[in-house]
Amino acid sequence: MSETTHATIQDGWFREISDMWPGQAMTLKVKKVVHHEKSKYQDVLIFESTDYGMVLVLDNVIQCTERDEFSYQEMITHLAMNSHPNPKKVLVIGGGDGGVLREVVKHECVEEAILCDIDEAVIRLSKQYLPGMAVGFEHPKSKVHIGDGFKFLDDYKNTFDVIITDSSDPEGPAESLFQKPYFQLLHDALRDGGVITTQAENQWLHLSLIAQLKKDCKEIFPVAEYAYTTIPTYPSGQIGFMVCCKDPNRDVKVPVRSWTPEEEEKHCRYYNSEIHKASFVLPNFAKKALQ
Ligand code: SAM
Repeated sequence: MSETTHATIQDGWFREISDMWPGQAMTLKVKKVVHHEKSKYQDVLIFESTDYGMVLVLDNVIQCTERDEFSYQEMITHLAMNSHPNPKKVLVIGGGDGGVLREVVKHECVEEAILCDIDEAVIRLSKQYLPGMAVGFEHPKSKVHIGDGFKFLDDYKNTFDVIITDSSDPEGPAESLFQKPYFQLLHDALRDGGVITTQAENQWLHLSLIAQLKKDCKEIFPVAEYAYTTIPTYPSGQIGFMVCCKDPNRDVKVPVRSWTPEEEEKHCRYYNSEIHKASFVLPNFAKKALQ
């Protein structure tokens, strides 16, 4: 029986307080705590909110909410998938809620979509409480591996067309996924012309981290760009992505493939070919810091 409360919940409100975003905190009104456990790797909390549906929280940080998850899942996936001419073999590192996998298999050309997440508890609980995202696990093309993405990649060279790193933040089990050796592993696991996207934090809060990520990526990939999406429940209402490619002639800022407007309407609630391009347009303060 899960407890009816949690250290982050006071007076019926969840508060996302962290030193990763000092002096600010997202709060969500809680209808009911539906599950809480300490897994082998992280504290896992799932609560029903009054206005954002079910919310998954890992180590006191919001991972996804039913109401706005589509913005992040679609953008981190389709920025990569539509920057590749024919992605057949796709790897997701992290992504234990299943949302990115749900997006990957929307592409007919995909033959195999493998997901590697370190924590079986996240997958198990997402299947139980976040069915709209965990639907990605049910697809016949989907395969799941439980393990550390850093170690998993070491066994694969020249294998994948697209690798999406949908990780939690650099504090905790995802710490190694924000460091240069990891990006070298990503590069080496890609086939020629391969594309990666990674969760790359927020330009209002983490500009020095993003500048370091871009510097590291530029030293490994011929093409490395930063894009972002808007999403109400992530800190400061947005989150960004590194988008990199092994092909020096690929412009990831312009989709090499796109759906028809009707298909976009059917497949996506956020992503479209216009917003693909617009997501790389940065405000002056960020452009200057990332040049
Ligand atoms: N969209 C969210 C965000 O932007 O913060 C991330 C959601 S997803 C739930 C994050 C996943 O990363 C979790 O399931 C966690 O278990 C996984 N993860 C963290 N470190 C990992 C590692 N080293 N290898 C594989 N998965 C990892």
